[in-house]
Amino acid sequence: MIEHSHMAHHAWIFAKDVLGLAMWLVMLAVIFVPLERLFALHPAQIWRKQTGVDLSWYFINSFLPAMVIALPLATLARTLRSVDPGGFYSWAAHWPLWVKVPLVIVVSDIGSYWYHRWSHANPLLWRFHALHHSAEHVDWLVNVRAHPVDLVFNRLAGLVPVYLLGLAISTGPRLDPAVALVTIFGTAWTFFIHANLRWRLGPIEWLISSPAFHHWHHTNDEHRDHNFASIFPFIDKVFGTAWLPNYWPPVYGIDAKVPPHLVAQLIDPLPDQKPAAVADK
Ligand SMILES: [Zn+2]
Ligand SMILES: [Zn+2]
Repeated sequence: MIEHSHMAHHAWIFAKDVLGLAMWLVMLAVIFVPLERLFALHPAQIWRKQTGVDLSWYFINSFLPAMVIALPLATLARTLRSVDPGGFYSWAAHWPLWVKVPLVIVVSDIGSYWYHRWSHANPLLWRFHALHHSAEHVDWLVNVRAHPVDLVFNRLAGLVPVYLLGLAISTGPRLDPAVALVTIFGTAWTFFIHANLRWRLGPIEWLISSPAFHHWHHTNDEHRDHNFASIFPFIDKVFGTAWLPNYWPPVYGIDAKVPPHLVAQLIDPLPDQKPAAVADK
């Protein structure tokens, strides 16, 4: 009986989470669908090939990667504080949010820049990242088209340095508030930079990423392997991987074939399935 009500409780929490995610999705669609109609860069249909699959990725990727990284990050935070009691980490814990949030954005963007760049260079990691690049039409929803394994490593690369530097301290079940704020901002912004919008942001384009900046990351011509940062283009500038001309990429996607169905997209990159199936890019 107790067991049963316990399960019912969890089912209720899960249902509320799914409902909340569905409402976020509706809000995003209300913003981006009309904008992409009005200011389309490329002529496109609202319901394109793979929209259904990408919607499934939206729900899966809103849960799974966050669940997987929660425990290692909490363990890291607890370990750091126990090896350094009353020291740097306790001091940093009291820094105000307005100091921490900008630092968290920069540090996590540098961390995920390097993972992202590595995932383009390393054949095994590329198998998991290729799904994101397989989109031949780039629009706001392509933001969530990603393999959960790719997202787990990318987020860990962004957040482990944040914890090491004492910018996040939470050890409980809840996300650190600075990390939570940055995650919300980063997620909203990455929907924007995928959007099929012909807007150019002028001189600001070197300060914060734009659709033009990230669309070039999805190009399938000789300029691929540029623009790895998700928020700050100057990270690519500093490390020599920036490419942002006045025109737009001619073609998106990758040469390799990615399976059209969700389960195959999930399983295909796993090693020992089909050796080197998506290793070329
Ligand atoms: Zn990439
Ligand atoms: Zn992208």
